[in-house]
Amino acid sequence: MTKIDEQVNEYYNKLLKRNAGEPEFHQAVAEVLESLKIVLEKDPHYNDYGLIQRLCEPERQIIFRVPWVSDNNNVHVARGFRVQFNSALGPYKGGLRFHQSVNLGIIKFLGFEQIFKNSLTGLPIGGGKGGSDFNPKGRSEGEIMRFCQSFMTELNRHIGEQVDVPAGDIGVGGREIGYLFGQYRRLNNRHESGVLTGKGLTWGGSLVRTEATGYGVVYFVEEMMKEHGDSLSGAKVIVSGSGNVAIYAIQKAQELGATVVGFSDSSGWVETPNGVDVQLLREVKEVRRARVADYVSAATGATFHADGSIWSLKADVALPCATQNELNGEHAQTLAGNGVRYVAEGANMPSTPEAIEVFRSHGIHFAPGKASNAGGVATSALEMQQNASRDSWTFDYTDSRLNEIMSNIFRRTADTAAEYDHDGDYVVGANIAGFKKVADAMLAQGII
Ligand code: NDP
Repeated sequence: MTKIDEQVNEYYNKLLKRNAGEPEFHQAVAEVLESLKIVLEKDPHYNDYGLIQRLCEPERQIIFRVPWVSDNNNVHVARGFRVQFNSALGPYKGGLRFHQSVNLGIIKFLGFEQIFKNSLTGLPIGGGKGGSDFNPKGRSEGEIMRFCQSFMTELNRHIGEQVDVPAGDIGVGGREIGYLFGQYRRLNNRHESGVLTGKGLTWGGSLVRTEATGYGVVYFVEEMMKEHGDSLSGAKVIVSGSGNVAIYAIQKAQELGATVVGFSDSSGWVETPNGVDVQLLREVKEVRRARVADYVSAATGATFHADGSIWSLKADVALPCATQNELNGEHAQTLAGNGVRYVAEGANMPSTPEAIEVFRSHGIHFAPGKASNAGGVATSALEMQQNASRDSWTFDYTDSRLNEIMSNIFRRTADTAAEYDHDGDYVVGANIAGFKKVADAMLAQGII
């Protein structure tokens, strides 16, 4: 064990003690620290001034009560979170998640990942994340609106276009951003477009923001496949989930000539050997907010499975786009056995460490979410640029900017991996490239 190994292990063991009961946060930090050992050996100055310890401690963590009244007049008390992790590169930026599984550890893991992802985009944005353990499923429009208003009544004190700019994530889409923005505007008497991204197109939103994360994943995959002499044309692709990221990943993959052979939600998965009818899927998920089984009743040649795993399908490419730790070591073995050659994360940390190890040992090209799903936040930053200049760009122009950003992220990730003698290891490449930019800014700005 080298001196750097010992030091980094010591940092990590302290972090485990100080952040007990937060396994997802531990997992995200462990992966990054493993890559950083490589940098610290080569560039020891990154180990000075408590840089690593400061990087792993959020600048600010806000936890608040969110009381709201349901349609039957019952009072509910949810918990709200905003973790403002690192603002060395720009205002905190990261989504809000409304899901019953949300707790401080999950928001911290997401906020920590966001620092490196935002750095990789090359745009001036820091890292943050927030949300609530409120479960929006089955709630009426009125309940969703009242919840969002109560949530913003407190969050409003902590955000602003130069301070912290939230967006959507699981359970928070255009509808919720609308209610959140409305309440912010009312409380502050300011039409401050730059305070939230993912807005409606008539009040400061950007074309392509809705599609951006899914499209971005596919642009990244195209680059990765090109690097290895392959392409999506004619490929079979598995996409887990059927939310914002999954739907537009499916659409773009099929546009580029792939066949998407399956998708899912938390109720089960759907096998689609002839491809996905994206218009029907959007109608079922975005308009009717129904379950994937409803897609099967209206589609031809699709089969619903309540049991088993979507990762048992045969394909060339797998895109996990649902949630964290949805793809474990056993699933990864099945994918490898079935001939999958590329995996790119649309979701945040959907692959367990065991799964990533299986990908490595089978030579499967693997793109970590902090690189491959950065298209959403990148387009949010483009929305901020449009807001700042009171401009609105065309779909094609914004899409070409997104495509260019994803190509640059791929290049930076691949080149950094090669520079540190880990050619083709996109986990190492993304972690180191994301880290160095933030670290340089933190060192330049002193011990704060
Ligand atoms: P949505 O809420 O639109 O969709 C989430 C999808 O994942 C749904 O199909 C949902 O099924 C499924 N899902 C969620 N939780 C679980 C679970 N515990 N088990 C099985 N399925 C689950 O969210 P997004 O598409 O926006 O986000 C998906 C992932 O992508 C998240 O990890 C998010 O952090 C990440 N991401 C999102 C970005 C964005 O711009 N939206 C940007 C970058 C990353 P069901 O409806 O049944 O719950």
